[in-house]
Amino acid sequence: MTSERVYLSTTIPYVNARAHLGHALELVQADVLARHHRQAGDQVRSQTGTDDNSLKNVLAADAEGIPVAALVDRNASAFAALAQPLSLSFDDFIRTGSDPRHRPGVERLWRACAASGDLYRKRYEGLYCVGCEQFYRPAELPEGLCPEHRTRPEPVAEENWFFRLSRYAGQLHDLISSGRLRIEPAARRNEVLGFIAGGLEDFSASRSTARARGWGIPVPGDPGQVIYVWWDALGNYITAPGYGTDAEDYGRWWTGADRRIHLVGKGVLRFHAVYWPAILLSAGEPLPTDILVHDYLTIGGSKISKSGAVAGSETADPVELVDAYGTDAVRWWLLREVPRVGDADFTAARLVARANEDLANGLGNLVSRVVTLVHRYRQGRIPRPDESPAAATTSGRQALAAACQRAPGRVAAALASFDFRVATAAVWDVVDEANRYAERTQPWLLARAEREGDPAAGQLLDESLALLSSACSELAVLLAPFLPSLAGRIRAALDDSAGQLPAADPVFPRLEAVVIGDAA
Ligand SMILES: [Zn+2]
Repeated sequence: MTSERVYLSTTIPYVNARAHLGHALELVQADVLARHHRQAGDQVRSQTGTDDNSLKNVLAADAEGIPVAALVDRNASAFAALAQPLSLSFDDFIRTGSDPRHRPGVERLWRACAASGDLYRKRYEGLYCVGCEQFYRPAELPEGLCPEHRTRPEPVAEENWFFRLSRYAGQLHDLISSGRLRIEPAARRNEVLGFIAGGLEDFSASRSTARARGWGIPVPGDPGQVIYVWWDALGNYITAPGYGTDAEDYGRWWTGADRRIHLVGKGVLRFHAVYWPAILLSAGEPLPTDILVHDYLTIGGSKISKSGAVAGSETADPVELVDAYGTDAVRWWLLREVPRVGDADFTAARLVARANEDLANGLGNLVSRVVTLVHRYRQGRIPRPDESPAAATTSGRQALAAACQRAPGRVAAALASFDFRVATAAVWDVVDEANRYAERTQPWLLARAEREGDPAAGQLLDESLALLSSACSELAVLLAPFLPSLAGRIRAALDDSAGQLPAADPVFPRLEAVVIGDAA
């Protein structure tokens, strides 16, 4: 396996409200991919951040009666602070409003597109959704309402800069249909191809400074206009690795990367799979190689609102959930239960049930049992049995060895197709097989036979405990990208390098459902 250089990004949320579980889903998915690639020996640079320059931030600050910069600072810090409770390992966090790398890069990107002749001024009238920060055609508005927000877009008329998107329809179609720009899952690729086939219209790439309330990056050479927030925000994918400010970094992590992977939610697919590649084509920069699209979460049957609140008694706050149930349980629900296609409904009861069934019962009991048996029958030392063909062989040994052997390949294949449920199922195959093996070999009966003078039983016991210990160690490796904290505890539980294993201690105690109090 040759090592690759992998660039990996999440979208950058606008920070008009607090982070909710939907943000946590994308961050955790990206984190698993980053950890997986690092584990495989790849060079990885994963980044996330916040979109500070949205008009929505201005409106949210108005509603609270505080300066925009104060609101943005507070909420952006809260997003960055998710790293600890969610065990995120991103390498870079860019804030578009204050990061010194961002504005020079966006200005350079603008000038590059202007130099290609793709920016021109035009008077425009259209229906605008502030929630989406985009114009809609009437045909795209069922019952006249924004499909994302179910609000009525307002008519807007002004003269703006336009980007010549129409010019890139053929190239985009070829890139996407050939898979050179890969979009997963396939249904999302087909959705994009359908949108392109429907005809691409040029889109407005700036707003009047007055309507943007002076918030955002001015158009180079035209201070009466600010750069459209989506243009500005998409630019973060290259400004963070140094476009316009650090040629060496940029050459290493964007132009020189083997894979440039964007994780995005289905609601912003068009921006990432059509607008963004077209901007890069215009500017003469390399495109992303992969766009991985996730669906949405509902919480207790309700859509998460724009403010991050949900109806009913469930909380959507990932930090509150981690406080109540721990990082591993929250990550595990997001990875094990959310399907690759289709929305998933979260409840705390489901999180608790899933964690108890898998982590406390299936995996936790396995590790506790192995550690206890090694202490009871082998003074806390994992046996290193004779592996010669003539040696005794326990029944089911092949099946467990085979499960351990095939799991890494199955995990890698599932993650390559952005399927976390299949990847975690491949890990669980080892847990199930190890538990079956323990039931079949019954080491406690072998120990009794050994005590009663049967030396062959002693050999079988050695083999059984050695294989179970090595399966648990393999599980620590397999789980490390998904549940780094629990994987670390399993590794520590199976470490006899100090002469014997540490005393048995549950690696994942059972959870009880708790009432999460009102944060106020
Ligand atoms: Zn909208």
